[in-house]
Amino acid sequence: MPSPYHWMHPSLAALQRAHRYRTVSSVTGKAGAVMVRDGQPLINFASNDYLGLAGDPRLAAAAIEAIDTYGTGSTGSRLLSGHRDLHRELELALADLKRTEDALVFSSGYLANLSTIIALVGPADLILSDAYNHSSLRTGAKASGATTYDYRHGDVDHLEQCLAAHRAQHRRCLITTDSVFSMDGDLCPLPQILDLAETYEAMVLVDEAHGTGVLGHRGAGAVEHLGCLGRPMVTVGTLSKALGSLGGYVAGSQTVIDFLRNRAPGWIYTTGLSPADTAAALAAVRIVATEPQRRQTLWHNVDNLKRRLDATLDDERKLTLQRLPSESPILCLVGNSASWVITASQTLQEMGLWVSAVRPPTVPTSRLRITLMATHTQAHLDQLVAGLASLVSE
Ligand SMILES: *Cc1c(COP(=O)(O)O)cnc(C)c1O
Repeated sequence: MPSPYHWMHPSLAALQRAHRYRTVSSVTGKAGAVMVRDGQPLINFASNDYLGLAGDPRLAAAAIEAIDTYGTGSTGSRLLSGHRDLHRELELALADLKRTEDALVFSSGYLANLSTIIALVGPADLILSDAYNHSSLRTGAKASGATTYDYRHGDVDHLEQCLAAHRAQHRRCLITTDSVFSMDGDLCPLPQILDLAETYEAMVLVDEAHGTGVLGHRGAGAVEHLGCLGRPMVTVGTLSKALGSLGGYVAGSQTVIDFLRNRAPGWIYTTGLSPADTAAALAAVRIVATEPQRRQTLWHNVDNLKRRLDATLDDERKLTLQRLPSESPILCLVGNSASWVITASQTLQEMGLWVSAVRPPTVPTSRLRITLMATHTQAHLDQLVAGLASLVSE
């Protein structure tokens, strides 16, 4: 009898042949701008820890205190034994940061997107999704059973065509978009999307995973940066990137949050966020509000690196490595081929630099992806520029 699991062998072999087989490498020591990976210290241009908070002693102290007070697990779903005052404090702090009426904390950003989409729309409804949206938004759309169309990345004209062609045939409509696109670093045209949503009576779900703590005067995200605070929309985000912890959240009107508390299966039927993660995230939200200098340093690093990359990659070398337009701490350099960016990433690693190679099918064109942190020093950036310069001059 053949094993019912046998089909996985050819599937894995196909991934290996296509150079798409994935493995993990082990990082030791505390999160930070320099990390030890597989025994080698590397300057870290590959993390989502934009403000350098994941290794901040204040987050650790808050987490340890929460464990001392409550223990490690929250022991049940929020509606049964899993709710602590700490959860509510975090939700109110997030709502305050986002200038929304309320917020709800989930176990991860992925689950927050998935559960919210499933709760908001069903088979009678329509989802219009930016073609570059995160996996959690796509999986949510699929699981909801709603009719889903991708509109061309960042293209409001195409979005309007889709609305004009399909909106009337469906009960409810939900437009979903990342605010900061994680593999490109550009922003969604949110003001125009919200205008169209008003005209066509559509809900909007915007994913601020890479915006929160990073963009906007107060660190509220791309929604603030683009002047859209207070407009009707559902905002989703994560506690695991600039906020240095683990978990996700939804911020929105009282009605939306009340509805999700009653109708989102991924909130109702899962265990409440651990006390340690909750307390660390709460400490981070307070730091985001009180230490704007972290954001300023991050943006100083972004501007500095952009200017120097453009000077370095100027002239004929531009043909080898082209910087994509970015309005975030995510800077991408498009290379000639998948094998070129993989070799480039390995060469940079030999120089002590951790820069990811991202290739199809994750993105349409192969690229080096650099993420900056507030805790990168001038010397870290100098080494990166020198490393990249040596790649293009070869
Ligand atoms: C990371 C990410 C998520 C998922 O957040 P987690 O808390 O890590 O599950 C969702 N959306 C986007 C755009 C992301 O980059």
